[in-house]
Amino acid sequence: MREPEDELNKLDSAGLLRSLRKVDSPQGPMVTLESGESLINFSSNDYLGLAASPELQAAFRRNIDEFGVGSGASRLVCGNLTPHTELETRLAKFKGTEAAIAFSSGFATAMGIIPALCGKDDIIILDKLCHASLIDGAKLSGATLRVFPHNDLSKLEQHLQWAEKKIETSGRILVITESVFSMDGDRAPLREIVELKNQYNALLLVDEAHAFGIMGKKGRGLAAELGVDKQVDFQMGTFSKALGLSGGYVCASREFISLFINKARSLIYSTAPSPALAATISNAIQLIAGENGDQLRDKLWRNIRLFSDEAESAIVPVVIGDNEDALQASENLRESGFLIPAIRYPTVPRGTARLRITFSAAHTEEQINALKAILP
Ligand SMILES: *Cc1c(COP(=O)(O)O)cnc(C)c1O
Repeated sequence: MREPEDELNKLDSAGLLRSLRKVDSPQGPMVTLESGESLINFSSNDYLGLAASPELQAAFRRNIDEFGVGSGASRLVCGNLTPHTELETRLAKFKGTEAAIAFSSGFATAMGIIPALCGKDDIIILDKLCHASLIDGAKLSGATLRVFPHNDLSKLEQHLQWAEKKIETSGRILVITESVFSMDGDRAPLREIVELKNQYNALLLVDEAHAFGIMGKKGRGLAAELGVDKQVDFQMGTFSKALGLSGGYVCASREFISLFINKARSLIYSTAPSPALAATISNAIQLIAGENGDQLRDKLWRNIRLFSDEAESAIVPVVIGDNEDALQASENLRESGFLIPAIRYPTVPRGTARLRITFSAAHTEEQINALKAILP
C-alpha cells in the first residue's frame, strides 16, 4: 500500500505541494499572517469588501440573538427556519425568478443540482474551464459528458448537434458554463450560448460565482447585464464572494426548485446552514441591492480600471507557466509586501501556473498603484 509521504513527495517534486497559510486577522485588503507580516491582499474574492463590513457584522450579531446559531437538522427534517425561506424569497425576487434554493456552499450547490437534473440517459456539455464543483457534479451524475474548448461556440454547437441526435425523447441535454471564469477572469458569450441552447432544445446552467453582486443592474449578474437572464434555466452562484459570507444558491422555475428539494442530496442529507448566517445573507442581498451596493460596485470598477483598461472582471491572471516560477514570483511579491498566491494544476491546466490578482472595492488607490509599480 502506498504511503501518504510518497504521494506528498511526488507533489513536492512537481512543484504542486500545497499547505495552509494561516491568516491571523479578519479578511480584508490588508491581512496579517501568522509570521506577523502585514501584507496587501490581492487574492481574496471579497470583491465588495463585505467580509468584515461593520454593518454586516452588527447584523450577524443581531441575527444570532434572534435566531440562534445552529439549525439542528436538515432543511427537510426540522432545520428549515424562517431565515432560510425568507432568504430564498428575497433572492428569487431580486433575481426575478419564480423560486430559489440555498445550499451550504457553492460547491454543495453544484454537487446537488447537477445529479438531480441528469442521470445516465442524459447528456451534459461543459466549457473546458468550468470550476471543479461543476465538473465533479457532472461526473457524479453519471450522464454522458462532452467538453468544448473554452468559449468555443462552434464546438459547442457540434456537441449539441450530436446530442440532439443521440438523446431519447425524455432525455435532457444540459449545457454548463460560468459567466465569469474564476481563474481567467474572462466572460462567456452568454447571448450566443442562450441562442444555441434554445435552438437545440437544451437546458442551460450558468454559474455566476464571480459576477453575482458586481455585474448587471444592482449586481444581479452577467446574464442580467446581457438581458438573457430569463432564458437561463439555472442561475447558480455563491454568497461567498461578493457577498462576503458563505453559502450557494440556484434560482430557477418553481418546478425545478421543487425537484432539487426532492433530489439534491447535498441539500437533503446535510444540516441546514446556520439560521443567523441565512438571515445575514438576506441583509447582504439588501445591501448590494441598495445605493450602498451601487457605490461599492462603482468603487470596485474604478479600482479595476486603475489597474487595467482591458480587464473583463475583478480577476486578472498573470500567467507564468512553470509551477516553480509561479511559486517564486509569489514569494518575491510577498517579500515586497503583497499576498498573491500562485495558482497551479489542477486548479488551472498544466503549464499555465499563474498569479491570480483580484480586486476589491476596499482597496485604496495607493495599494493598487503600489501593485502596478512592482509587477513587471
Ligand atoms: C468559488 C466557486 C464555487 C464554489 O463556491 P463556494 O461557495 O466557495 O463553495 C463554485 N463555482 C465557481 C465558479 C467558483 O468560483
